[in-house]
Amino acid sequence: MAVAAGGGRGVQSRVHEMIPLASLIRRELKSEKTEKTVVRFGCAAQPKKGEDYYLVRTDCQRVPGNPSSVFCVFAIFDGHNGNAAAIFVKDNLLNHVIGAIPGGLGREEWLHALPRALVAGFVKTDKEFQSKGQTSGTTATFVIIDGWTITVASVGDSRCILDVKGGDVSLLTVDHRLEENAEERERVTASGGEVGRLSIMGGVEIGPLRCWPGGLCLSRSIGDMDVGEFIVPIPHVKQVKLSKIGGRLIIASDGLWDALPSEIAAKCCRGLPADLAARQAVKEALRSRGLKDDTTCIVVDVIPPHSLAEVPPSLPKELNKLKCLSFRKKSRDSNSKLAKKLPVACVVEELFEEGSAMLAERLGNQPSSLSETHSSLFGCAICQLDLPRCEDISVQAASIFSTSSRPWEGPFLCVGCRKKMEAMEGRRPSGVKVP
Ligand SMILES: [Zn+2]
Repeated sequence: MAVAAGGGRGVQSRVHEMIPLASLIRRELKSEKTEKTVVRFGCAAQPKKGEDYYLVRTDCQRVPGNPSSVFCVFAIFDGHNGNAAAIFVKDNLLNHVIGAIPGGLGREEWLHALPRALVAGFVKTDKEFQSKGQTSGTTATFVIIDGWTITVASVGDSRCILDVKGGDVSLLTVDHRLEENAEERERVTASGGEVGRLSIMGGVEIGPLRCWPGGLCLSRSIGDMDVGEFIVPIPHVKQVKLSKIGGRLIIASDGLWDALPSEIAAKCCRGLPADLAARQAVKEALRSRGLKDDTTCIVVDVIPPHSLAEVPPSLPKELNKLKCLSFRKKSRDSNSKLAKKLPVACVVEELFEEGSAMLAERLGNQPSSLSETHSSLFGCAICQLDLPRCEDISVQAASIFSTSSRPWEGPFLCVGCRKKMEAMEGRRPSGVKVP
């Protein structure tokens, strides 16, 4: 219901301003209208090993049964050492993310809860897959589009870029590659992994930096139980809000990015509708490098409803001159108000970004608006398993803040998830045994 969706604080301040109910309703309806977008997409894939998978869902609902609460999901899973992990993640990740969002939230609260739910969903999916005893692994780049708000969570190197009319091409993911990411190399080494190149006869080192044991080039992934638990499934998460001119996302596996730099990939398909753009990008990658790897690409255009016939981003001259793209950084601690008005000069507003591999940092900051009203806080923050309440809670489950002076304060983890957290941080040997 539109009026109530404004949330307690907003409604109260409006009442103080003595705004008549009729104009309040008008305002809410207008805001609902301004969040309306059209999403057009296209996918293209050229397999080589058959380990790339993708997911497209344009019919998800925040409120089950309410078609006006529709959101879209686009994801790419680039598997390695087999395709079992990629298939499992494709089939389960979305459900696990949705299952980690408390029920009964309004739209803004829901968007605010997403980054934390994505972390929980990724870790839960990884834990479940590892319990199956299979050794394959996968990247996961998972994009949720709700109105103008885009939330991207990723592990691995399946990059997602944003191309906005008149602006620069920007990266919404971080490449979790040991070769290119010094911070990740440090973390893996500190957690007990060894980072080095493959050495062949005569001690000659070849190829990119890898993590040993296992020899994986990625520092984060889902699955990979034979590699060591410091290869974590904790995603980098970034949330941005597009301006009303919209933008284009290009999500692809490294088969594409190893052939085309982000700028070139964006440029080579500008002016084409999404379906042709995806095909063009894959074609361009094959032309420049040949078919060396599975190459999968999803192009998603988020456009205003009135520009149905228009093809984004075609760089109109007047916008180009304005050079109006600027990311407005939000401080991590600021109480982000997603509905904040956008300055005219800003095309993309950055709402959230966090990439830490420490679970306590990622799950700890429960938005205060959620902390009292939602009983799921007495469940495990990762697997959502119900935990016993009251005095038992300190025995069966510990607060995720191990050094906290108030161990009875959430979020809590069940015994299994706590073990997993400690293994990922290198604080205990992995409980999982490779068969
Ligand atoms: Zn758990």
